[in-house]
Amino acid sequence: MANRFNECFPSFIPLHSEFSPGLKVIDNFSDHISFNVHNKEKDDKSHAHQLDDMVLESSLSPSTAIIVSDASIKNNVTTSILHMHINNKPLTKMIHHAVHITSTEAELFAIRCGINQAMNFDNVFKIIVITNSIHATRKIFELSVHLYQVQSAAILSDLCNFFKCHENNSIEFWECPSHLKWHFYKEVDKETKTFNPTLLYPCKTSWDFSKKSKSNDILKVWKMMFQASDLKGNQFLDLLNNNNDIIEPSYVKGGSWLKTFGHSNSLCVHATRAIMNLAPIGEYRLRFFPREEFKCSCSLYPIESRHHILHECGRFNSYWNLRRDSLGHFVMFLETNPSAFTFSDSLV
Ligand SMILES: [Zn+2]
Repeated sequence: MANRFNECFPSFIPLHSEFSPGLKVIDNFSDHISFNVHNKEKDDKSHAHQLDDMVLESSLSPSTAIIVSDASIKNNVTTSILHMHINNKPLTKMIHHAVHITSTEAELFAIRCGINQAMNFDNVFKIIVITNSIHATRKIFELSVHLYQVQSAAILSDLCNFFKCHENNSIEFWECPSHLKWHFYKEVDKETKTFNPTLLYPCKTSWDFSKKSKSNDILKVWKMMFQASDLKGNQFLDLLNNNNDIIEPSYVKGGSWLKTFGHSNSLCVHATRAIMNLAPIGEYRLRFFPREEFKCSCSLYPIESRHHILHECGRFNSYWNLRRDSLGHFVMFLETNPSAFTFSDSLV
């Protein structure tokens, strides 16, 4: 980051009045703001129907502006598009290109333009924003210092003026995941992907984009170091993820392994011992204490190895699924066989 600093443009303004206690939009106008998030447990059709019903109701009213926005990145150029519909008519279409920014920033910028356009119509009392990145819209109201404050401060200033204009003025944010292929959103999504801009001049980079590319570089180094078995240890147990790929290091969503067993200290120790093969089992004793017993107490196998415990030993097969090469099933095996890979087992 230090090397890149001179090439960055800053994107946070924590001293903006919108972030001061008592002046925050979320404190003063919370009942004017609502979110309609896609419930992943319900089926997609019911959410698409809800969107249809909302549009049908809103399109009859000349005082509701519907904004549909999307952003996509190609060749480091981000394209953001917004369509605005009022009274069942497409009114405005805005297209922006920006270089070296993330899609979240572009998405927020499109929403900022849409809200600004909508509130300039005197008869608009309700603004509906439809987007596939609801996490970006939540950033607008996030009170801590974050990377999108240039956009969120501008949006909050506009919203503050909009809500002050009339006590019934309101805004709704609707999530519309791309896979729903909902008609209004599909149109915008298709359009953002048709552009194929090329980068001609060297450009400054946004703070968020720099941070993202730096963390991508770090991840690449982690993965490279991880593949070199002398760094992770020869005994390291390669486990598979849900897509049947070997798990690689990552910091996303709590890391690759810890998110599955990090909630329990004992399970974490148990899993770490088994993955590193530093557990009190025959294979370990044979390596470090060859005078001690290394046979499995099921007496069917000459060496009590990790593979034997996980896949063959009759003492630990109370768990029904034989596939223990995936992290999920491996952890289930440890949970159903708490004595496997522990001292309590070696004392039996
Ligand atoms: Zn055995």
